[in-house]
Amino acid sequence: MSDLSRPIGPKIIAVANQKGGVGKTTTTINLAAALAELGLKVLVVDLDPQGNASTGLGIDMEDREFTTYELLLEDIELKDVILPSATKNLSIIPATVDLSSADLDLISNEKRSFLLHDALRQPQIDAYELDFVLIDCPPSLNLLTVNAMIAAHSILIPLQSEFYALEGLSQLMLSIREVRQTGNPDLRIEGVVLTMYDSRNNLSQQVEQDARSNLGELVFKTVVPRNVRVSEAPSFAMPVLSYDSTSKGAMAYRALAAELLANNAEKQKEVQSG
Ligand code: ADP
Ligand code: MG
Repeated sequence: MSDLSRPIGPKIIAVANQKGGVGKTTTTINLAAALAELGLKVLVVDLDPQGNASTGLGIDMEDREFTTYELLLEDIELKDVILPSATKNLSIIPATVDLSSADLDLISNEKRSFLLHDALRQPQIDAYELDFVLIDCPPSLNLLTVNAMIAAHSILIPLQSEFYALEGLSQLMLSIREVRQTGNPDLRIEGVVLTMYDSRNNLSQQVEQDARSNLGELVFKTVVPRNVRVSEAPSFAMPVLSYDSTSKGAMAYRALAAELLANNAEKQKEVQSG
């Protein structure tokens, strides 16, 4: 039973799409940085064994002593896995390749789909006064992604502006429906964000049109342009907002953060007015 004396806690958003290379990690890191820049406290949870979010936020391999693997499968305290990043207000639970065996290691666990949910709802998390938790999901619909979807209030879906982009979405939507039926009835879709958008490319425009006509309001007005500064930033171990603060990519992620906050304020009002 939930403890009513506790504050509501952070909004938890899973950044998911079972396709690889569509901009999940890039969106997680830079949306997190944009929210943190506004003074909000953000925790990134790296749930991909590739550990790209951890690397992109400057967490050295030797500093990843405890990771999401231990958070899920061993009794470890949040304070031992949450690391600060070089960006103010932005912390991370890192991942290593160890996480690649988690899918198998979880199978025999009775609570296998709820481990991240429970880990992120330990009372200790209150001390961090987090506003947002962003979960960077692996490129599959495996048990790790299911853990993210059960733990989350909403799913944010990066959609690469390329051929067949929309086809993978129906599979993702099915998984979301399944998760709603089995463990997280209130799971919402935060929105679909077009990434690596090239306005000079007809295909990008076509994908945008298709997405907007099929998904309507679910598609963020903000689109993230293809921008070389965005792809360079991770090798300097920082968000593009720090690497090149005035780049088109940085501006886009600030706009996305503003749009997300506005949407959430809107929903808050709806809830309050019944
Ligand atoms: P995923 O996490 O979904 O696998 P990534 O975020 O790692 O995808 O992005 C895949 C590749 O595309 C990375 O090399 C990344 O740097 C690059 N990339 C992502 N977004 C952009 C962008 N807006 N402009 C240019 N390159 C991008
Ligand atoms: Mg990734």
